[in-house]
Amino acid sequence: MRIFTLPEAPHSTLGQIEKELSENLMGFLKENIVAVEKPLTEIEKDFQAHQVPASPSFVSDYAEQMMQTLVAHSVHTSAPSFIGHMTSALPYFVLPLSKMMVGLNQNLVKIETSKAFTPLERQVLGMMHHLVYGQSDSFYNNWMHSASHSLGAFCSGGTVANITALWIARNRVLQASGDFKGIAASGLMAGLRHYGYDDLAILVSTRGHYSLGKSADLLGIGRDNIVSIPCSDDNKVDVDKMRQAAEQLAAKNIKVMAIVGVAGTTETGNIDPLNELADLAHTLGCHFHVDAAWGGASLLSNKYRYLLAGIERADSITIDAHKQMYVPMGAGMVLFKDPEFANAIKHHAEYILRKGSKDLGSQTLEGSRPGMAMLVHACLQVIGRDGYEILINNSLEKARYFAELIKQQGDFQLVSAPELCLLTYRYVPAQVQALLTHAVKHDDLELVTQINQLLDGLTKFVQKRQREQGKSFVSRTRITPDNNLGLTSVVFRVVLANPLTGHDILQQVLAEQREIAQQDALFLPQLLALS
Ligand SMILES: *Cc1c(COP(=O)(O)O)cnc(C)c1O
Repeated sequence: MRIFTLPEAPHSTLGQIEKELSENLMGFLKENIVAVEKPLTEIEKDFQAHQVPASPSFVSDYAEQMMQTLVAHSVHTSAPSFIGHMTSALPYFVLPLSKMMVGLNQNLVKIETSKAFTPLERQVLGMMHHLVYGQSDSFYNNWMHSASHSLGAFCSGGTVANITALWIARNRVLQASGDFKGIAASGLMAGLRHYGYDDLAILVSTRGHYSLGKSADLLGIGRDNIVSIPCSDDNKVDVDKMRQAAEQLAAKNIKVMAIVGVAGTTETGNIDPLNELADLAHTLGCHFHVDAAWGGASLLSNKYRYLLAGIERADSITIDAHKQMYVPMGAGMVLFKDPEFANAIKHHAEYILRKGSKDLGSQTLEGSRPGMAMLVHACLQVIGRDGYEILINNSLEKARYFAELIKQQGDFQLVSAPELCLLTYRYVPAQVQALLTHAVKHDDLELVTQINQLLDGLTKFVQKRQREQGKSFVSRTRITPDNNLGLTSVVFRVVLANPLTGHDILQQVLAEQREIAQQDALFLPQLLALS
């Protein structure tokens, strides 16, 4: 059983990879991830075999082969010019620490397989809880390590965090009362019958994340019962419209189970008016969840945390550490205002998760879970509040710089200004902008639509070509216009997180996009012909 005992010889490929990863990570990634795009269908040919190999391989042979087929065609997410997604560079120190975590192979489902990792995870949840809710010392002394309470649940990401929050909301709305044993025991049907509701609904803006749809499906609420509320022009939910929707639902005997505020929408990075939503939830007597999967980390900045004012009034909050907190994937959390909330989803089993035990698995959706909390812990300690202050402020201010830069160009149009460090824009030649403004002013819907369709084609062309060239990467998304004639459709989307992304890179990104746009022989000529 040599593979369990003998360390890999240092001269092997694997040894070299390890050495480089710990001493020269950026160089390793730069050299080994090839910039030239190989079509996915070509790559698939390297992963065609469908039988488990009969004979074992040498680890170094395996590593050698994977360098060619896998590493070479991975995505260079840590490149400073990779500014398209929420996945970005990691601080160097998480590499050796993650190796320690994997080596220890602790299972956080229960104390018997995790021991000290359990209080560590509870501490991380406590720190994050304090960051948002800022309760007293005695609050944390009482509840942080209490067997019958939870300040939150650690999970693999924002999706599971949102599911957990809505699971709790659902179980609290249909909790045990009288001879009804609660939805967890008796099911949704019995719950609705007992309480006399015809249905349950969840209210969230049109910019809500698709994981909420998955949650509604999974929890038996149904995707159609996620009621999408339009946003105002700044991509923030229109609270009056949400109130009206709630009234209409009440008239149909449909109980609003939860309203969800988004703090940092995935597409535009905007933050809903959280205080107003908290007031509305209070009026409706329903659960108030804030999806701050991406934006929540901004609370680590004393300078900008005011942007999320009102978040402390949420009953539950989703925060992904693997987004703006520089922790590797999957590190998500849901935090609970009330340490009793998690009891709504408590499950017990005989061999583990016994009643009164501190096993985390009795209050988490997931069963076996890795010790990822350690890496959040590591980042909180090593980077610290002062470090995060610099990192977050830097990203937000860089986004503001980039927005100004875009506005200064005659041939780019800022579509959504950055509230945090995410913005969207598109390439629109100056004369087309003039034509578009004119068409909007005169309510010429046909012309506006025609221009936008051509611009969509141009934006897609530029984004795809830029990705293929491999020098830089921005993503694209389609923003459905809520009510705004002049706006928009397909846009470039930029998320700034890597501290090594300099102003020069942002300037180059625009220059490259302009150059590509001018090579386009299909959409651009038509646009120019119109104007
Ligand atoms: C990323 C994100 C999610 C989903 O999180 P995962 O970690 O990808 O599961 C949910 N909501 C928002 C607002 C997000 O940005």
